[in-house]
Amino acid sequence: MSERAYFDWNATAPLRAEARAAMVAALGLTGNASSVHAEGRAARQAIEKAREQVAVLVAAEAKTVTFTSGATEANMLALTSAIEVGGRKATRDKLLISAIEHPSVRSGGRFLADRIEHLPVTGDGVIDLDALKSALARAERPLVSLMLANNETGVIQPITEAAALVHAAGGLLHVDAVQGPGRIGCTMAALGADLMSLSAHKLGGPQGAGALIRRSDIHIAEPLIRGGGQERGLRAGTENVAVIAGFGAAAAAANLADASCMAALLEAFETGLKAAVPDAVIFGKRAPRLPNTSLFAVPGIKAETAVISFDLNGIALSSGAACSSGMVQPSHVLAAMGVEPALAQGALRMSLGWSTGEREVEKLLAALTKVVSSLRKRRIASGLAA
Ligand code: PMP
Repeated sequence: MSERAYFDWNATAPLRAEARAAMVAALGLTGNASSVHAEGRAARQAIEKAREQVAVLVAAEAKTVTFTSGATEANMLALTSAIEVGGRKATRDKLLISAIEHPSVRSGGRFLADRIEHLPVTGDGVIDLDALKSALARAERPLVSLMLANNETGVIQPITEAAALVHAAGGLLHVDAVQGPGRIGCTMAALGADLMSLSAHKLGGPQGAGALIRRSDIHIAEPLIRGGGQERGLRAGTENVAVIAGFGAAAAAANLADASCMAALLEAFETGLKAAVPDAVIFGKRAPRLPNTSLFAVPGIKAETAVISFDLNGIALSSGAACSSGMVQPSHVLAAMGVEPALAQGALRMSLGWSTGEREVEKLLAALTKVVSSLRKRRIASGLAA
């Protein structure tokens, strides 16, 4: 088979060599990190090293990092009314989330459905700060959960501005920063985040690891998994040392310096897309976006068919959100942006990363021309308007 080109980094990024090496080394450890003997201490050391590496990535204190099985679980852990600030109960009465959050946030975590309010976004896919302001005025002691950048459109959200509004209203802010590391800055203080979720496999670590990071005076008072008291009582169960070690190594390797190269490739792709298919629509184009993500649609072409055709041409990309791509469902993100369902059905996402090269983008553009022309011909042959 000729070389494939991978453009689905927002679904999962390739494992970094550093992460693989750290995992292989950790797999050689025998001890349980809770044991006091030398073997146990070695496992503990691997976990604590990773905790420090993840903390450095977001400029937090290591002790505020709780390892989880992924960002879905980190979001579950964060979204609770049982929060303490400075050792005092700071119970949250309401959860405010935007309409474009990942399903793991949209489900509301541990809040009851009638305690959750959804906030609108603009046509460009940016959270509507005026709507946030008025929702904050109505809510007492809210927890607000907003994503740093949308996984489908790549649109970067005005988190710092939102944080100022949330804090002025006595609220707390959880940021799902999963798509940020290595692409845009995501330090806790600069964003104004009180809680932050990360996922290892989006930044070159293994699948199955994530973290919730807290501001140092914030405590989650309701554990997600009770038992042996691991992870400071927040998440019981023997730690998965190897994946945690891989997460740490990937976090240490994530490098914002890669962003300019990604942005240049993205620009080359979008210029080529417009030249090859002038009626293609790029979603969120007017908003600030991640340097690696382009969500676009070619009118008249269905995304599921196109994804298969691209795959047959050696290209991996996705239709809308990968997390829901097993099911053919319209994207809730595009619906919230007011995109016509017929156009939304055609949304394709290409997302690239630090090891993507020019040749792969050229391969994608060549496949695009071929796939679009053949799918359009097929439509015309079947009597449908192109
Ligand atoms: N939030 C966002 C923005 C995501 O893109 C994803 C992964 N698609 C998640 C949360 C869930 O992460 P995980 O796969 O680690 O559970």
